[in-house]
Amino acid sequence: MLPSNISMRQPSPPRPPMTEPAASPVMVQYHEIKQANPGCLLFFRMGDFFELFFEDAVAAAQALDIALTKRGRHDGADIPMCGVPVHTAEAYLARLIRAGFKVAICDQIEDPAEAKRRGAKMLRRAVVRVVTAGTLTEEGLLDARRHNYLAGLAEAGGEMGLAWLDLSTGAFALAPTSETALAGDLARLSPGEILLPERLLTRPALFELLAEWKPALTPLPNPRFESEAGRRRLQEFYRVEALDGFGIFGRAELAAGGALVDYVGLTQQGRVAHLDPPRRVVPGSVMQIDAATRRNLELVTTLAGERNGSLLATIDRTVTAAGARLLADHLAAPMTECPAIAARLDAVEFFVDHPEARLALRERLRHCPDIERALTRLSLGRGGPRDLAALRQSLGETASLREMLAVADLVPLPQKLAEARRGLGEHRVLIERLGRSLAEELPLFARDGGFIAAGYSDELDEWRGLRDESRRMIAALQARYSEETAVAALRIRHNNVIGYYIEVSANHAGKLGPEFIHRQTMAGAQRYTTVELADLETKIAGAAERALALELRLYDHLVGEVMAGRSEIAAAAIALATLDLAATLAELAAEAGWVRPVVEDGTAFEISGGRHPTVEAALAGSGNRGGFVANDCVLGDDDRIWLVTGPNMAGKSTFLRQNALIVILAQMGSFVPAGTARIGIVDRLFSRVGAADDLARGRSTFMVEMVETAAILNQAGPSAFVILDEIGRGTATFDGLSIAWAALEHLHEVNRCRTLFATHYHELTALAAKLPSLACHTMRVKEWKGEVVFLHEVGPGNADRSYGIHVAKLAGLPKSVTARAEEVLGVLEKGEQGGALARLADDLPLFNAARRRAAPAPRESAAEAVLRDTRPDELSPREALDLLYRLKGLAAE
Ligand code: ADP
Repeated sequence: MLPSNISMRQPSPPRPPMTEPAASPVMVQYHEIKQANPGCLLFFRMGDFFELFFEDAVAAAQALDIALTKRGRHDGADIPMCGVPVHTAEAYLARLIRAGFKVAICDQIEDPAEAKRRGAKMLRRAVVRVVTAGTLTEEGLLDARRHNYLAGLAEAGGEMGLAWLDLSTGAFALAPTSETALAGDLARLSPGEILLPERLLTRPALFELLAEWKPALTPLPNPRFESEAGRRRLQEFYRVEALDGFGIFGRAELAAGGALVDYVGLTQQGRVAHLDPPRRVVPGSVMQIDAATRRNLELVTTLAGERNGSLLATIDRTVTAAGARLLADHLAAPMTECPAIAARLDAVEFFVDHPEARLALRERLRHCPDIERALTRLSLGRGGPRDLAALRQSLGETASLREMLAVADLVPLPQKLAEARRGLGEHRVLIERLGRSLAEELPLFARDGGFIAAGYSDELDEWRGLRDESRRMIAALQARYSEETAVAALRIRHNNVIGYYIEVSANHAGKLGPEFIHRQTMAGAQRYTTVELADLETKIAGAAERALALELRLYDHLVGEVMAGRSEIAAAAIALATLDLAATLAELAAEAGWVRPVVEDGTAFEISGGRHPTVEAALAGSGNRGGFVANDCVLGDDDRIWLVTGPNMAGKSTFLRQNALIVILAQMGSFVPAGTARIGIVDRLFSRVGAADDLARGRSTFMVEMVETAAILNQAGPSAFVILDEIGRGTATFDGLSIAWAALEHLHEVNRCRTLFATHYHELTALAAKLPSLACHTMRVKEWKGEVVFLHEVGPGNADRSYGIHVAKLAGLPKSVTARAEEVLGVLEKGEQGGALARLADDLPLFNAARRRAAPAPRESAAEAVLRDTRPDELSPREALDLLYRLKGLAAE
């Protein structure tokens, strides 16, 4: 039965009785530690549980849906408490972090025996780590296929700097940013946590911009973002006199970077995390894509928030987690420099041209577990034998991969692959060591023991032999005692409280000789020990303890050896991911018939036979392979802006987006879904949809649309690429038309960038006569036997009709409505709106209904007449009941 103070929501995890008194030394210790870690839930280790107290307990019980109980009293009130078992703590931790909490893990840092020796009543405890969303390393808490960045934002000397790192892989980068660029930068990185000085949140523009990231924000005191201190911290961390060797960094970048390293130190309680040297991301070296554009193009999630159906999900054929992370990173940050793009494309082309090598390589890579994250866990002291095994496995594959890439008909390799091949490195000694030392079956934690293979250490084998031999001796002892005493049911058993003991049923107790020393009386049984048994027990315990201690020492040696080769292993991890990505993109290109784009300086844009990767894949998936209609898009000086008209559902949005996606794919270094493609480098990409399509936003959708359009008109330069889909739709027709009109003129005259502009305002086509670089295109439609067929083909010209009623029919509007709509349309199209519309309205079904309503009310019914004459206040209960029966009778007539 549950104690009455436990709520019945969910059974509390089973727990042993409290081993420490409720009162106070522990609570004093608790309060001290709690105060030193403000802003965190405190996981306070007590025996096999992490306990939470006071408001922490209330918050956690609710977030985890576990029982809230109480423990002792404080200041005259019960202390609320809840707890989670240590061995399953990770799952609870994951849920708390996801719910936006930070958790300080306070562990016991000595065992009870040590405390006893010290004569202390209480164990020493200390916070060993603070877990926050941006500093996770555990497999169970992370998405294996996505980076989890911790970002830092700072300002110094009027400039802003951004730093980001992935603690689980060691990636670390710095870049300048600005109020205008920040939203795009954050959208690209999608960090799990953002550190920033408190004062930045007092700036209205930043506050608004960061509102979207609210759950991820960790504001910290301003002095932690001081730039000189940041520089010093970074120099200390990398043990260098100057950072110039890594790049020339701005003050704000150093402030942000320093704050990050500081925070990592704090959350990891001083353990040195492995971080690559900071890489400076030069402004302008990546294509700028703001958050709205990313959302709208469904790069990593669909507009509905799902991964499936996004561009990333469509192209992800990677076979390793690190490859998947690299793909996501590249997709998030397409490049803007031709040579770098060409180098990536060369690598992809190589694997397109060598399908057998690709196949063999991918097969080998499938056997490579995630060594990036294993390495980080090991360097943070949070790893285990399985991380060592992951290294053995993946590094073991590097040798065959290196050989594979050295085959005569493959050399010379393109530069990226040659670099990757070198990066794979030479790990024979470590692989051999790990191969010999690790057992087949491995526990998660080193402390569980049993992971060192037999034959690796003579001393260990000896202790283990002794331990096992002693166990056999216990069995022999039982047989002997049983025989000597003639008690067949005599057993030697073990429990954690009294250790080994001899047990016989109560009625046999008299048969035992004096060497049997009584220990315990149980219901119906007696327990004994003997000197011999006690000796054996000491031997077993000693042997097991020594075996484990030795194993732990050997484990530390192995980890030490890994750490000594840390940079080579990190390089191998990058090489594996690079190979996976190049082969993946080649696989995709071969499978889906994609081509190598020509990416060059200038503003060319020539796509022939372009396709939308996701829509095409979806059509193929629904059995409609080849159902996708490819379209050309060639933007030149005379037709830099395409005005695309056409009915709803004709494929305008698809056409616009496919061209934007082709730009992204090309500049991230991928082949593209087209017959041929020539693209002048795009430095900024914008995509906007009319407000009616943009759901789920708090602000007025039209306002959002205008804010986003303003961003384009203010920011797009001659190398930008803009797609605008149904801009102006969110307001009244004339307003919308005027805004769309003026925006087009601005794009043509001021921005002068490559633009695809889809609209249902046919009036805009009139602009073609005035704006020399504007060309009109339309989605072809065929009318056939009274039906309308969308051909999904883009051709020059204007749409002559919008076919909205046709779409309404497809959508299943009642026939009477669509027939009536056709009638109204007929009148409107004749352009005699005035009188004809009024006549039409006269016989509109809706107006008829209104007229009917205005007619005199029908005669009053008998029941209504009775009710009118009833005075409820004057009725007795009995009369009320009678009245009810009478009314019912009237209603039945
Ligand atoms: P619009 O923007 O003109 O309303 P969409 O681009 O949303 O039209 O396209 C509507 C549907 O038509 C898409 O969901 C897709 O199934 C189909 N479609 C669009 N373009 C093509 C194409 N090129 N080939 C085949 N089907 C297409």
